Amino acid sequence: MSDPIPDKKEIKAKILVVEDEEPIRSFVRINLERSDFLVLEAASGEEALKLIKTTVPHLVVLDLKLPGMDGLQVCRVLREEYPQVAIVMLTARTQDMDKIKGLEMGADDYVVKPFNPLELVARVKAVLRRLYPAKNFVLSCDDLEIFPAARQVKKAGKQIELTSREFELLYFLARNPGRAFSRDELLNHIWGKDYFGEPKAVDIYIHRLRSKLGDDPTAPSFIETIWGLGYRWRERE
Ligand code: CA
Repeated sequence: MSDPIPDKKEIKAKILVVEDEEPIRSFVRINLERSDFLVLEAASGEEALKLIKTTVPHLVVLDLKLPGMDGLQVCRVLREEYPQVAIVMLTARTQDMDKIKGLEMGADDYVVKPFNPLELVARVKAVLRRLYPAKNFVLSCDDLEIFPAARQVKKAGKQIELTSREFELLYFLARNPGRAFSRDELLNHIWGKDYFGEPKAVDIYIHRLRSKLGDDPTAPSFIETIWGLGYRWRERE
């Protein structure tokens, strides 16, 4: 028996604040908590990447100037390994912003220091709204609803039983609609880099997911096969 799906209002977005300057980090945390976000903190990029291995946040507020790995390096790793996590960069000067934009590191938004906390909170909310248009952090797609916090899935209001790995795979694809992933990329993202499995394992999981979702592979509503490559979540208009 799985736990019941909690009230949607209780699902809070998890935000990781990466900033070495403690006063600024606390200031950001207090303001985000006031807006009802769950806040995690890291004082360096290395600490942030270690923390993310156990707790994947919805969004990272990432300072550009960090000791050790700088914000751009952290951003690059996040984009590669956790493409579903949103990033709002904190930058000290407008020149830094030009640098970020020039490098196209893939941050979702930027806030220039010194910033008004209300502005930062507004940017964070706007990015999350864009990623979770269904509000309250339920990802919905036609009659399919994915509850990331509860790790549960409903189709036409009826709960679908998924194993943890099936859930991860479904959620990962659904978070990245229209983006094709190779079997190796999916193995890396879902099974982890240390897993030396056969890419065939991905096919087996996709097959199980499709049958649980009632998704016809010849006319898929959700998971499309990209011949010679892998799979893609069908993009909605
Ligand atoms: Ca800093």
